[in-house]
Amino acid sequence: MKPVKEFQEIAWVEMTPDVYDGPNCDQIKPQWTGAFKDDMDSENGLGSISFDAKHFPPGAKIVVSVPCCPECGAEPELCQSDDSCDFDWDFWARDTYQ
Ligand SMILES: [Zn+2]
Repeated sequence: MKPVKEFQEIAWVEMTPDVYDGPNCDQIKPQWTGAFKDDMDSENGLGSISFDAKHFPPGAKIVVSVPCCPECGAEPELCQSDDSCDFDWDFWARDTYQ
């Protein structure tokens, strides 16, 4: 039996926060936007997403990638807990998802 060597991406989901949430429109509310191959519609504003295993073939993988800090190179959670880096992720989110 030949080993499977290649995988094809079929779904992309991005955490695209609503940066105008709250009474003063200044809160950042986490939400997902999802897009599936061969499905031109993307769904946004999702509080949570589910991947029902029966809709996927055996061997399907779900990969989550996070942005790396442009200043220190660390992922956001580590960057924010590192006092030596002052990259402003809230500012970045507002600038990116306004
Ligand atoms: Zn950083």
